[in-house]
Amino acid sequence: MANISTQLLDSHEVDTAAELLTAGELVAIPTETVYGLAADAENAPAVAKIFVAKGRPPSQPLIVHIRPDWVERYASDWTNVGQRLAEAFWPGPLTIVVPKTERVPHEVTGCLDSVGLRAPSHPVAIELLDRFGRGLAAPSANLYGHVSPTVAQHVLDDLDGRIAAVVEAGASRVGLESTIVAIDGDHVSLLRRGAITAAQLGSATGQTVVDKTMGPTRAPGMVLSHYAPAAPVEIVDASALANITFGPGDLVIAAVPVDHVYSVHLPDDVSFAAGLYEALRKGDDPAVTRVLVVPPVAGDLVPAIMDRLRRAAHR
Ligand code: AMP
Ligand code: MG
Repeated sequence: MANISTQLLDSHEVDTAAELLTAGELVAIPTETVYGLAADAENAPAVAKIFVAKGRPPSQPLIVHIRPDWVERYASDWTNVGQRLAEAFWPGPLTIVVPKTERVPHEVTGCLDSVGLRAPSHPVAIELLDRFGRGLAAPSANLYGHVSPTVAQHVLDDLDGRIAAVVEAGASRVGLESTIVAIDGDHVSLLRRGAITAAQLGSATGQTVVDKTMGPTRAPGMVLSHYAPAAPVEIVDASALANITFGPGDLVIAAVPVDHVYSVHLPDDVSFAAGLYEALRKGDDPAVTRVLVVPPVAGDLVPAIMDRLRRAAHR
């Protein structure tokens, strides 16, 4: 299904983007985490198109992107814990899973009675939400299982001809998907790691944060193989680098300097997170036969980076 003509819009064309969304079309939008593939969250047939365009199983729930003051439209139970998290981290890279209202169709939630809500901080996402006036359901704007997009060109590489438009607004600042937290009364569970850490969630809520990122109760859609480029990915410890003989097809992505022609140096956890997906996408080049990744060892973003790398390396 590559038969639609995909428009490349610039960040001054949010009106056009809002009109397309109102007409039930799909528009890829910039956010501070990664580019999202947006549809009107209250329009079930529009939401259903997301799964077709991405090739994503419809059982995997989507995040609804909102302005912070729209929470009551979509959350049927909003506790003090939710309010504290929103005050501390919204707008920003935190998704809060809460019981949903009937405005949220089952297509969005994979038939769950809960919904993941996030208020993005990207100025273009905010402007678009304000123009559009309702929530936008959006997963990452990539083909299912592939590396998430952090620039508009990545979106086109995966979805050109499958979606109505993409709004171009430079590179995503964070570069990793949002932290996901579920709230049940006073209980706080971490479902997916991201730039906002478990320690930050604990201090903002005063609650113990239960780690549910692994095991049977982990967030639906947190599949083991994800974020994978065409070439196989291997995680390498910096101390093991000296024993590796590089071949011409090797791409090295490293937090330490590496003496190899095809290497990307991302020196600390923040730049590593921001540059990781762009670098992993170089592993789609047919000339690349192996991607070796030397992750950073220190910094708040290391747990989220390692989560993504383990999935990228999973075969
Ligand atoms: P993405 O793949 O980046 O679109 O993130 C969507 C992910 O958010 C899903 O795969 C789930 O892991 C999580 N999620 C969204 N809504 C819910 C929900 N209602 N309950 C639990 N997890 C959710
Ligand atoms: Mg995704």
